[in-house]
Amino acid sequence: MFALKRSLKLNNNEATLMAKHAGFRRVVFNFGLSLRTQMYSEGKLSDSKVINEVKKVLTNHVKKQPEFAWMNQLSSRVYQNALIDLKDAFSRYRAGKAGHQKFASRRNGQSFTVDSSNGKVLLSAGKTIKIPTLGTFRLYEALECGYVSQTFTISKEGSRWFVSFCVDAERLPVQQPKSSVGIDVGIKYAAMLSNQQVFDAPKPFKQAKTKLATLQRQASRQVKCSNNQRKTYNKISRLHAQIACIRKDFLHKLTTYLAKTFNLIKIEDLNIKGMMANHKLAGAISDIGFYEFKRQLDYKCLMYGANLVLVDKWFPSSKTCSNCGNKKDMPLGLRTYDCPACGRSIDRDFNASVNILNS
Ligand SMILES: [Zn+2]
Repeated sequence: MFALKRSLKLNNNEATLMAKHAGFRRVVFNFGLSLRTQMYSEGKLSDSKVINEVKKVLTNHVKKQPEFAWMNQLSSRVYQNALIDLKDAFSRYRAGKAGHQKFASRRNGQSFTVDSSNGKVLLSAGKTIKIPTLGTFRLYEALECGYVSQTFTISKEGSRWFVSFCVDAERLPVQQPKSSVGIDVGIKYAAMLSNQQVFDAPKPFKQAKTKLATLQRQASRQVKCSNNQRKTYNKISRLHAQIACIRKDFLHKLTTYLAKTFNLIKIEDLNIKGMMANHKLAGAISDIGFYEFKRQLDYKCLMYGANLVLVDKWFPSSKTCSNCGNKKDMPLGLRTYDCPACGRSIDRDFNASVNILNS
């Protein structure tokens, strides 16, 4: 993860827009700070409760006053992020890491943060930047390649406005050798590549899955709502979190490797609904998380300049012989493709990945 900062090339209208947003952030932040001071003198309240009160007062009262109507024309993400900043300031103060928070002034408060509420956005290479909820702005220095980010801080230094954002990648850009690959997202393996590389879900993942099944059986046998059952459920939820973590880590490593290594990547656009109807397949697909795999691969290919091609979901990748093109039925349990036409005997998933590549 590293941060990028670029100088914005703004016209007068755009600079005014930025100043207004910085003002908005200042008002929200200072308002929250003063409200907290008042609430403290009335008694002890947790930071989240204070933030919730601040939110309520701002939304239900302040924003409805005619002199604060301008707030409604600005990005509401500024307001959300100002409250997040405020909460951070509270906890830093409590932890003894910072002194009592000072009110933001025009001198030290010319910055604000916006983010995209539906996840990461792609920034294309070039001399403009599209900032979520604010619009597209010109840059003095071009972005050298596509980046993915979610949160953007705009700040004024001297007379210039800057945008900074974090990019979650080691170092960019990477030049892939010119090579193509077909990927079969598998039942037996997580992914099988047409160059015969196999990626399997990590061992701790499988162990955790087995343990999960054991605990679930145990919970079902315990007395309902008993202390013991509650303990088992706690263990189950911790295990779920652990599994999600391993899965995410595995998928990130796999998709980063793929996007960095190949410049043409072909995968089947799986018909998830159809597959979920089939119990055997449903387990395998949800295990590694195909949606997440596709989503990560999608943005990483854009980031590293690789091409991702989705092969038609009706393409018979498993049923076709990758050697001669003969087609035959392949029941799910069959692990090897034995071609009656050319005599080729080949692993089912490997055969499919070669077909996906050649499609
Ligand atoms: Zn054949």
